[in-house]
Amino acid sequence: MNTLIAKQDQRITLLKGDITKLKVEAIVNAAKEQLTGGSGVDGAIHRAGGFQILQECMQLPIHYRDVRCPTGEAVITTGGNMSVPYVIHTVGPVWQGGASEEPILLKNAYRNSLEKAKEKGVHSIAFPNISTGVYAFPKHLAANIAVETVLAFLKEDDTLQQVIFCCFDEENYQIYHRLLS
Ligand code: ADP
Repeated sequence: MNTLIAKQDQRITLLKGDITKLKVEAIVNAAKEQLTGGSGVDGAIHRAGGFQILQECMQLPIHYRDVRCPTGEAVITTGGNMSVPYVIHTVGPVWQGGASEEPILLKNAYRNSLEKAKEKGVHSIAFPNISTGVYAFPKHLAANIAVETVLAFLKEDDTLQQVIFCCFDEENYQIYHRLLS
């Protein structure tokens, strides 16, 4: 696996690979508002964690219609069959051109995931590149928002000891590599 420790903060690590294989205390899922699972990283996490994750998601309260996690918010379940204790499900925005508060919603998704981790006393967490797959958020902008939000959080926090940006595609990996080295 390719890895890099960020120059800005040694608690941040970049790596390329499958987030379901990481030995951390929490992994973040780029979920959809209904929390019913789906494609991409969401599908990979539900496959690896098994039916228990879906069952836990379906026990969470409904906010409106069938929405269990509004865009920008985060909820937590166990890792089901995975060895990771927690999955933090957050919903990134669907890119609609940039004028529908997508940047702030993406920032909220990262920030609220970090807050959930902190609430549980988690020391290590891994993020996928939220919204940059099916939701089509521009990858450069998304990476900038992700790094800035995590750096700002870590400045105020001493619980988290490791934050991993887990890139799956080479393009995202290269973008993060430039930002963090
Ligand atoms: P979204 O709907 O938020 O765009 P996607 O799952 O479609 O979510 O894509 C988000 C990111 O997750 C993409 O950069 C994609 O390459 C990445 N991804 C897909 N599968 C995995 C995996 N197993 N581990 C980590 N990242 C993954």
